[in-house]
Amino acid sequence: MEFEQIEVPDEGERVEVLDEEADEFEVPDHPIIPILYGDGIGTDVGPAAQKVLTAAAQATGRDVSWMRIYAGESAREKYGENLPDDTVKAIEEFRIAIKGPLTTPVGAGFRSLNVALRKKLDTYANVRPTYHLEGVPSPVTNPEQMDMVTFRENTEDVYAGIEWEEGTEEVERVREFVEEEMGFDDTIHEGAVGIGVKPITEFGTKRLVRRAIDYALEHDRDSVTLVHKGNIMKFTEGQFRDWGYEVAEEEYGDEVITEDTLWEERDGEQPEDAVVVNDRIADNMLQQILTRTENYDVLAMPNLNGDYLSDACGAQIGGLGIAPGANFGNALCLAEPVHGSAPKYAGQDKVNPTAIILSGVLLYDYMGWNDAAQLIRDAVEETISSKKVTYDLHRQIEGGEKLATSEYAEEVVNNIEKLA
Ligand code: NAP
Repeated sequence: MEFEQIEVPDEGERVEVLDEEADEFEVPDHPIIPILYGDGIGTDVGPAAQKVLTAAAQATGRDVSWMRIYAGESAREKYGENLPDDTVKAIEEFRIAIKGPLTTPVGAGFRSLNVALRKKLDTYANVRPTYHLEGVPSPVTNPEQMDMVTFRENTEDVYAGIEWEEGTEEVERVREFVEEEMGFDDTIHEGAVGIGVKPITEFGTKRLVRRAIDYALEHDRDSVTLVHKGNIMKFTEGQFRDWGYEVAEEEYGDEVITEDTLWEERDGEQPEDAVVVNDRIADNMLQQILTRTENYDVLAMPNLNGDYLSDACGAQIGGLGIAPGANFGNALCLAEPVHGSAPKYAGQDKVNPTAIILSGVLLYDYMGWNDAAQLIRDAVEETISSKKVTYDLHRQIEGGEKLATSEYAEEVVNNIEKLA
């Protein structure tokens, strides 16, 4: 494939897709992996993660050829646009990639590049595992109880981006349509209004819930919880819950049991190897993750609930500097940390690169490089346990040593070499 500005490395091979629908692919021992540093602190944490991931690949008898791709500020400099076709094409062709954060202006300006990228690539599941690393300070008493994986729908709900701006002819036409033709008169207050519409489809819901249940079965998890606001938004959020149960009941046979059946027919006794599917209303769920942390495992949700819940889970295990994530499509993965571009720290070699490093761990797990992934996890834990940390954890750890982003990455690399 021809790229306008991207230099494809001479060494390394592509991931081979065997069956896209079935999410089957083959990863060579020396793949080419596109990397997008991103905006703000992306230029600090991106190179740090690259070093750590390379060290773990080499320590397990493999290698990586990194291929720089561009979006946001770096793309404006190189291409004169925010999200060049080159970038989307490169991820589509090489199938596995990692990115740092991209800045989105609030209110006005261009739309989120993160959202555009996820939608263009159809990476429909945003997955964030939240587990506690020993030694990481946390605002809760028992952070080790947190071990959840959130599956957030990544292409619809508020991400569909259907909104009309106040004061425009379009918003007034929508108001008129809603009030006069759809019968919602007296629903919208007089005066200026902004209107948004959120679609939740059977297709989008079912493929997300399927992915969450498959994950729970593959990783020996006990439950999948559908998180929704169906008591208020019955035909979107409530429908998400109903379609979620449909997948569970119609496609998995004995492998899945609903919470109702569990209590009605088995007095609450969970069959071995079966995953329980239940549902919770989103506001209740936000307190359950604090008050009954141990009871939850895998959470599947529409986009906005997933946004709130995954950050709240992340806070319990030490905050944004630690929280990893990845976006999955069929035979495609774009790993990225949960945090944003934190512009006030940009270029200072100061912030914590753990979140993007652990996002790389998710990527390696997906590639089947589980030994390399575990090695990185252990090396990160070893580094933090020895109290060598960046500013964010240092301010909470007594007697810790404060390291720059690059020094911390070096320390993790040293630990990889020691533990390999
Ligand atoms: P943010 O960039 O995540 O930063 C919020 C705060 O979180 C920082 O001030 C810092 O807190 C802490 N933090 C974030 N990353 C950290 C790290 N690696 N190490 C240590 N601490 C870290 O959120 P924001 O300020 O709301 O958003 C800034 C821009 O990022 C916005 O344009 C937003 O749209 C964008 N964004 C992008 C993504 C993405 O690319 N996926 C995600 C979220 C936001 P302290 O100052 O308290 O230390």
